[in-house]
Amino acid sequence: MYCQSSPQTSIIQPLPRDVVKTIAAGEVMDSLAAVVRELGENSLDAGATRITIALEPDLWRIQVADNGTGMTLTDLRVCAQGHSTSKIRSQEDLHNITTLGFRGEALHSLAQVADLEIKSRPKIGSNPGWGLVYHQDSVIKEEPVAIAPGTIVTVANLFGNWPVRRKGLPSISQQLKTVQTIIGNMALCHPQVTWLVLLKERPWLKISPGMAAIDIIPQILKQVRVSDLQLLQEEITTSSGLSHLELVIGLPDRCHRPKADWLTIAVNGRVVRSPQLEQTAISAFSRTLPRHRYPICFLHLHLPPSKIDFHRHPAKVEIYLQELELLQEGVGRAIEKAFRISPGNFSEAENPRLTQLLKASEKKGAYHLNKDLQTAQRKELAPKTNPNMDVVQLRAVAQVSNTYIVAEHAGGIWLVEQHIAHERVLYEELQDSWELVTLEKPIVLSQLKITQLEQLERLGLEVECFGEDLWAVRTIPAMLKERDDVAAALIELSLGGDLEAAQTAIACRSAIRNGTPLNLTQMQRLLDDWKHTRNPRTCPHGRPIYLSLEESALARFFRRHWVIGKSHGI
Ligand code: ADP
Ligand code: MG
Repeated sequence: MYCQSSPQTSIIQPLPRDVVKTIAAGEVMDSLAAVVRELGENSLDAGATRITIALEPDLWRIQVADNGTGMTLTDLRVCAQGHSTSKIRSQEDLHNITTLGFRGEALHSLAQVADLEIKSRPKIGSNPGWGLVYHQDSVIKEEPVAIAPGTIVTVANLFGNWPVRRKGLPSISQQLKTVQTIIGNMALCHPQVTWLVLLKERPWLKISPGMAAIDIIPQILKQVRVSDLQLLQEEITTSSGLSHLELVIGLPDRCHRPKADWLTIAVNGRVVRSPQLEQTAISAFSRTLPRHRYPICFLHLHLPPSKIDFHRHPAKVEIYLQELELLQEGVGRAIEKAFRISPGNFSEAENPRLTQLLKASEKKGAYHLNKDLQTAQRKELAPKTNPNMDVVQLRAVAQVSNTYIVAEHAGGIWLVEQHIAHERVLYEELQDSWELVTLEKPIVLSQLKITQLEQLERLGLEVECFGEDLWAVRTIPAMLKERDDVAAALIELSLGGDLEAAQTAIACRSAIRNGTPLNLTQMQRLLDDWKHTRNPRTCPHGRPIYLSLEESALARFFRRHWVIGKSHGI
């Protein structure tokens, strides 16, 4: 709508203050999830180790209680005023932000769009607790309260004065899913915190604390176990000093997702969107997972605050990062390291199905490890779980069914499927050098469709017309040169796919077939080549390559602890 104006009065008028505030508040607090995120982040900034969230979505009510630093009465009186924060003071501080919040907007916005009550008692000193009720810019009630040190923020009647906003939001169940993701993300970034979430007064979500994100993921993804994951901590040197990288990946032979929903990137304590870093991770996982499966990968970068600009997006999820390329390289290298099979980075519970079998054979409960015990065991293992260590020493012992190589190492035995292990070796060779050779005598193919010709040319092969419906292929991938099924291989390549798909097809065709007898030297050579590959766990089609039978699991299975005595061969 346009207002008529006379020549003396402007049609442009400043908005009343309360309208400006409501608009601004509606941007910061746009959903139940935003409230949970802002209050959760405040509790984290206050150093809380225990955060309890009570949700009453039907009443548009959210309560967040923490055991953090708490606030004095003086601070409680000003905390919900516009742009009031304890986290930064000046322009310079903007470039050195070490907290999740810094704009001083959340509580103020909540006081505009909801009923806000805060009870708090400082952790330090003997100050009593106080409870304040806020309405827009004023404190409308103030009274002493008996509470434990920490803070309880209650938001009720959210968007009560804004019916369109309420109606415009997704369904409650959809919003609760987002809330769950937000809490999961905060827990991944702050694994030392205990989270308890109640929905309509009933326990809904509990996340126990851990040492790192690797302890949190199995609590969020119930089908994933700690032993399905690999943790890697690395330093990346940037121009302004060291950055720290924490990486947790789902080992590709153990776990993956039906949707691309578990590639999570965090920077300095907050999950962010970084399409470039996501792309780096996706490329690192390329050809390690089965078709239409997606990785589990959590990456947390701890960077000098001066390297990050969080002011790109109101919710701070989009950021500007300096030296992005350097970080991308570091991340790519780290993921590659995490894939490697080194003495430290495989656990005795390697294969979930096998563990299931061993467990079933145990007396009920005897095998059961509780979570704390598992964490404790992992602590003990911690110095060992360093994928930077050399690759595991494997000795070929025998071949079974002309298909599996039995390999022995210090901690147990493995069965390695010869065809796919070799396929992995050849695939990586092809990736490293995609070599085409010219043939003296061309291979003649017939009845090629135009799309097939184009596909061969896309792969860099030279194809010429050789007569009616005949085609001469003069250059072919070097690996196919000595094979007598070159023509069939070329037809296969002509049927489509990108270079990676072509390399996979050639590797598969050229790899030792199952059913081929191998002597010990051949087996040993294959094991040596395979264990040095970048992604030894799965073949380029995503199938697992080896099955491990770790000594400790075998000892338990055979009850070696039951009998002690030489006569039993122990
Ligand atoms: P910001 O987090 O950007 O500083 P907020 O509006 O979220 O802005 O909070 C304002 C201030 O209130 C914070 O700077 C902090 O000092 C205080 N505060 C908020 N929540 C808590 C809490 N849970 N525990 C202790 N102090 C808090
Ligand atoms: Mg805040």
